[in-house]
Amino acid sequence: MKILIIEDEAKTADYLANGLVEAGYSVDCASNGVDGLHMARESAYDLILLDVMLPEMDGWTVMQRLRSHSRTPVLFLSARGTLEDRLRGLGLGADEYLVKPFSFAELLARIRIILRREQPQANAQLLCLDDLQVDVDKHRCERGGVRIALTNQEFRLLVCFLQHTEQVLSRTFLASRVWDMNFDSDTNVVDVAVRRLRQKIDDPFPVRLIHTVHGVGYRCEREA
Ligand code: CA
Repeated sequence: MKILIIEDEAKTADYLANGLVEAGYSVDCASNGVDGLHMARESAYDLILLDVMLPEMDGWTVMQRLRSHSRTPVLFLSARGTLEDRLRGLGLGADEYLVKPFSFAELLARIRIILRREQPQANAQLLCLDDLQVDVDKHRCERGGVRIALTNQEFRLLVCFLQHTEQVLSRTFLASRVWDMNFDSDTNVVDVAVRRLRQKIDDPFPVRLIHTVHGVGYRCEREA
């Protein structure tokens, strides 16, 4: 597993690199946004740790340019910790946003979760949430024991939701995962598809599982 660290503070970069190497990952480092983006384009990484305040090109721009052609998981690591910052990072398609100072143990745990999520779902063909069950192999969806017929696109959208439960998913993220569309593409198509999916898996049932996060996107979870 190969991780790219894009971080301009040498001390933080060293600390991260040493810890990750010790944990068994191989690591490359870039100290500014331009080099980082270049390296991300030239080599295949399993994960990118991305700082926000970087010389030459900030982390937001790196993220935006990266997502126009790549789905490599990105974890923002930033001293900027307002809700607005975190939503911005996730809205740009980052998988996780951790605020500095952070505990290394937590960083490692989050990295493992992201990498596990990215692996082919060899042993997890059955995705469940509340009374909803999706068998990925058999392309079958049931809720409360009732079989629900979905189009291929609706099915891919639902699987994407179930693979990222309790996370806010931006329209851009959904578009890139489900439709293979670029960042700048029209994301209205996502809203239309989500509405159709809801009509099938949510509307007939008392508990809603797909929630709108205004101004950001959607979240799939069983709300308490
Ligand atoms: Ca910085």
